[in-house]
Amino acid sequence: MNSDMKLKFGRKVISVEEARSLLFQCIKHGETERVPLSAAFNRRLAGDIYAEHPVPHFRRSGVDGYAVCAADIKQATPENPSILHVIEHIPSGTVPKLMVFSGTAARIMTGAPVPDGADCVVMLEMTDALPSLDVGISSTQVCIKKNVPVGSNITPIAGEVAEKELLLPLGTQVGPGEAAILATFGYAYVTVFRKPRVAIFSTGSELLNVEEALQPGRIRNSNSYMLAAQVEAAGGEAVIMQALSDHVDEVEAALLETLAKVDLVITSGGVSVGDYDVLVDLFGRFTGKLLFNKVAMRPGTPTSAALWENKLLLSLSGNPGASFVGFELFAKPLIKAMSGCPSPCPEAITAYLDVDYEKGSAFPRYVRGTTHVENGCLRVKPSGIDKSSIMVSIKDADCLIQLPAGGSGFARDERVLIYPIN
Ligand code: AMP
Ligand code: MG
Repeated sequence: MNSDMKLKFGRKVISVEEARSLLFQCIKHGETERVPLSAAFNRRLAGDIYAEHPVPHFRRSGVDGYAVCAADIKQATPENPSILHVIEHIPSGTVPKLMVFSGTAARIMTGAPVPDGADCVVMLEMTDALPSLDVGISSTQVCIKKNVPVGSNITPIAGEVAEKELLLPLGTQVGPGEAAILATFGYAYVTVFRKPRVAIFSTGSELLNVEEALQPGRIRNSNSYMLAAQVEAAGGEAVIMQALSDHVDEVEAALLETLAKVDLVITSGGVSVGDYDVLVDLFGRFTGKLLFNKVAMRPGTPTSAALWENKLLLSLSGNPGASFVGFELFAKPLIKAMSGCPSPCPEAITAYLDVDYEKGSAFPRYVRGTTHVENGCLRVKPSGIDKSSIMVSIKDADCLIQLPAGGSGFARDERVLIYPIN
């Protein structure tokens, strides 16, 4: 067998997990950048975020009402209200000037600081302002119709967050709640992990650019756009490159030129055993290190990877279904890890098959699946026709169903493992 034949037919098969761990040994992470808070959404924090002050940092009223001394309103009922003298109005954003003593009250708005001396706030709905005796001057007395306990409607200093508390550990993804925390503590700029730049090359002389008119025997390049959308969803920055023909010199030159400029290169097509499988030809003569070229999985058995010029090259099968699955299994965890995700590998959950699945397989199968909930149980079925050449149902996949290797297929209602997508 010559070396070309060996690369095509004499491949050593490894498991998905082994392949993933070989890839993980090659990645570098840690580059960070400072971005405006509003540009940090969905990014991952490159450092721990601690509370730099307590929240709230003043005793905060939770309602609109009157700040009073609880002892003054102990007996208050609608029939026998306590009447207090109103000494001050405290809008949000101001500070009280006066202290509340027994017999007095301060009108206070939600979110405003509770004045010293007051130990509870009574909701406005439980009070009646007494009409002013002096025409044109606002009411100076209030009837409190309900007794409320000490502390009522007051959030104490640090009642929500204590100073120096660890709020967001390194690697946390910035979602709505995290954005609110960062804003609360004055982070106009946030240090996050840099998005990995991922170049995407489709290969195949049959490929037309999206804007080109159809031609006999040729198809438009859909994989590059599908993969780019997957890259972005995983937290990377996709760089769609001009698709390449099945000429090894062209592919070699294009990849070599690009490797230095990006963090990861993904190719689709040209890894199987056909006469024009250009990546196989390239691996047969290149100066990089082939990590693997056969994985125990369907689709995408010939998925390959190499370390070249110190960069990872992940080569996916060209069939759209295989490219999609290969990306989810290998590229997504890599990109998530490179962008600071502390647990980048997918976690399986269980679901029940909604249909019989008759195809057995020599290798574990990763079937694009669509889930739904029935009587509180998660059920799953293949998304459309389960063939790796079928592109149109990729849009319906919300998970990958992992079916173990075996000859007999699977029956409806059998329990299976699925890996949710997004
Ligand atoms: P390959 O893995 O190169 O043998 O490709 C297998 C098949 O997948 C091709 O014959 C095409 O029909 C299809 N294919 C390959 N690359 C693409 C692409 N970029 N976009 C859409 N379909 C593709
Ligand atoms: Mg091809």
